[in-house]
Amino acid sequence: SGKWGRAMAILKEFEEKCGTPDGKLRQVADAMDVEMHAGLASEGGSKLKMLISYVDNLPSGDEAGLFYALDLGGTNFRVLRVHLGGKEKGVINQEFEEVSIPPHLMIGSSEGLFDFIASALAKFVSSEPEEFHPPPGRQRELGFTFSFPVRQTSIASGTLIKWTKGFNIEDVVGEDVVGELTKSMQKIGLDMRVSALVNDTIGTLAGGRFYNQDVIAAVILGTGTNAAYVERANAIPKWHGPLPKSGDMVINMEWGNFRSSHLPLTEYDIALDTESLNPGEQIFEKLISGMYLGDIVRRALLKMAEEADFFGDTVPPKLKVPFILRTPDMSAMHHDTTPDLKVVGNKLKDILEISNTSLKMRKTVVELCDIVATRGARLAAAGILGILKKTGRDTVKAGEKQQKTVIALDGGLYEHYTKFRACLESTLNELLEEEVAKSIVIEHSNDGSGIGAALLAASHSQYL
Ligand code: ADP
Ligand code: MG
Repeated sequence: SGKWGRAMAILKEFEEKCGTPDGKLRQVADAMDVEMHAGLASEGGSKLKMLISYVDNLPSGDEAGLFYALDLGGTNFRVLRVHLGGKEKGVINQEFEEVSIPPHLMIGSSEGLFDFIASALAKFVSSEPEEFHPPPGRQRELGFTFSFPVRQTSIASGTLIKWTKGFNIEDVVGEDVVGELTKSMQKIGLDMRVSALVNDTIGTLAGGRFYNQDVIAAVILGTGTNAAYVERANAIPKWHGPLPKSGDMVINMEWGNFRSSHLPLTEYDIALDTESLNPGEQIFEKLISGMYLGDIVRRALLKMAEEADFFGDTVPPKLKVPFILRTPDMSAMHHDTTPDLKVVGNKLKDILEISNTSLKMRKTVVELCDIVATRGARLAAAGILGILKKTGRDTVKAGEKQQKTVIALDGGLYEHYTKFRACLESTLNELLEEEVAKSIVIEHSNDGSGIGAALLAASHSQYL
């Protein structure tokens, strides 16, 4: 019918606007490289903040002792205890507890959030057996993974620049987050010292390096997205401190805030951004990360319902609810292998209260998921190519033995969204010359961020 044709025209137009041919991805990678240079040149020189992490030494593998980590950066936070064995023993043991953050605390007050975290830490510590108690006079030490943009002032302090990923607690912006956490810990008598403040990308990089010395960058694809990599300190014009002995400095790119005229933005992306908590910001993140992919699919479906009666004469009311279609549900529909797309049918019914969908309609929904996931995964690959360009690892150097390059990846989206992950990996291969592609490995750094923060707490211990 005419209506079906109209729906297909909307789908087709969406697909075209989301297109990411190799040429476009190369432009995105080049723009990323240019912005990386600009962000390193001067404070505020680019949308890419290229934050200096104060991490100038990555783990050697010799770190030893009992350390704690706290991972805050999305919907859950985790408390970990990591027992490091030193040379050749690696991680002897690790235990963690996960706590979900009550939504009202994500948009409440600083005190509310940090008191909640401190009390979860205290609970974790108080249930420890005797053998884990530190000797008298010795403090427990903690690596704090705080995955929001922070202007570091030292390895263990830094002020929050802005919230992302649905957090919005105004009185923390501009404050030292370690100071805030420490205040809350002191209030309840928890004797613990934050010896390293990092974000999840830095933690993942450190954790990855502990196991594999060829790791030079880390990328997170979870609720949000970000990347960190090892830069030469003398290639950072805005760094006026002493040159570190290692000659290296880890840079937290905050790549979620990248934007470029080459990014394929559709009307749905623009509306999503406008209606978001942080309009005009985190544009790259809004195209590729787990918080947003499902909602882009919802928006396209809503348009088809409104303008082409895709679900019949009335627009299903649930389809108008922002973020009702979550990325894990989108992923489940995208991976549906049943001949009649039963999973898609059930998700539409359970989440959007749309029943009696035809196979044709379900197939269209899967196509929408594919368009959105493919665009996100291919853009993430282009971002990685940008880092390879900046570090000179995107080409074969004549007469030189090709060095191995490992990129550590982590995050729920990368871990669980199989088609996204496969597309990212194949796209990166497709963008690289064969010789180079052979030297570059993407490694899943399972939970590297927690271990990484504990490792950095160890290497910055007050007792060394
Ligand atoms: P965070 O980024 O909040 O620290 P994670 O790295 O665990 O946490 O990522 C969680 C995100 O991963 C979720 O917000 C969701 O978008 C995405 N995710 C989780 N499970 C799946 C799944 N099965 N399929 C697709 N995406 C998923
Ligand atoms: Mg995380």
